[in-house]
Amino acid sequence: MGTMILALDFGGTKLSAALLARGSTTWQDHRRAFSPPHPDAAQDLHTIIALARALLGHEKPAAIGVSFGGPVDYQTGTVRLSHHVPGWENLPLKTILETEFDAPTHVDNDANVAALGESRFGAGRGFSSMGYLTVSTGVGGGWILNGQPWRGANGMAGEIGHITIDPNGPLCLCGKRGCVERLASGPYLAADAREELLHSPLAAGEGLGGEGPLTAKQLAEAAAQGNAFAWKYLQRSAWALGVGIGNAANLLNPERFVLGGGVTKSGERYWAEIRRVARETALPEVLFEVVPAELGDDAPLWGAVALTGLV
Ligand SMILES: [Zn+2]
Repeated sequence: MGTMILALDFGGTKLSAALLARGSTTWQDHRRAFSPPHPDAAQDLHTIIALARALLGHEKPAAIGVSFGGPVDYQTGTVRLSHHVPGWENLPLKTILETEFDAPTHVDNDANVAALGESRFGAGRGFSSMGYLTVSTGVGGGWILNGQPWRGANGMAGEIGHITIDPNGPLCLCGKRGCVERLASGPYLAADAREELLHSPLAAGEGLGGEGPLTAKQLAEAAAQGNAFAWKYLQRSAWALGVGIGNAANLLNPERFVLGGGVTKSGERYWAEIRRVARETALPEVLFEVVPAELGDDAPLWGAVALTGLV
């Protein structure tokens, strides 16, 4: 049996492969490719296999762990679908990779895998229970309970992004109203701020507006400079996350919540608001910490390593 663990990450826009020697804590090698503008499953699969072959040379991996950006049947390693890339419907990814590389393969969705990565190698180290949230284009989540991923009856546990925060709130992509994701994710924040500026162009105040589309990052930067308009939207985001986290804490009482994703880089004030609202939402006896993720974009790859069961 080989000594190398192969980790693969099918992200929304990029594909990554990394190789780890068993027992090591740093990648032996790491390669990345961006998906073309109109990707399909066959193309992405071909690209990631080529990345992996380039990493492995003639070596056979001891095992393969895979993070996939979409719902996966963990038991069979079959992808249900991708929300970004056509052609993934019911593709038996585990079987395809086992045939290709002749090595045992484990496949799970990216939020579960990133949660596992943070739990074993990042901000969740040393804690047996943890809720993980990623706040970027969407809001995803995963659970580690008693040191193991909790996937739920059909792999859908941890969808904290679609907890209802405001039943009368704006319509979410999922068809419901006022979800955490609808109130907290980057694209929705920017879209709602743009919409308000369309009707009241002067609302932006100092340091916002100008040319080009407004982004969540610009809002965060303006808020850090004291812009009240920008802070209003970031505060809404932090509030929605805080309510979601506080409710989740009441349900499962984990030791930590670990938060990653671009929107969480919105500064100390944003974090203080999340923590304040989460604390107010949970029962006083329910104790927990809310801390930043440590592994960044590599969380799914490290989680994929842990998924193999060899570390
Ligand atoms: Zn929703």
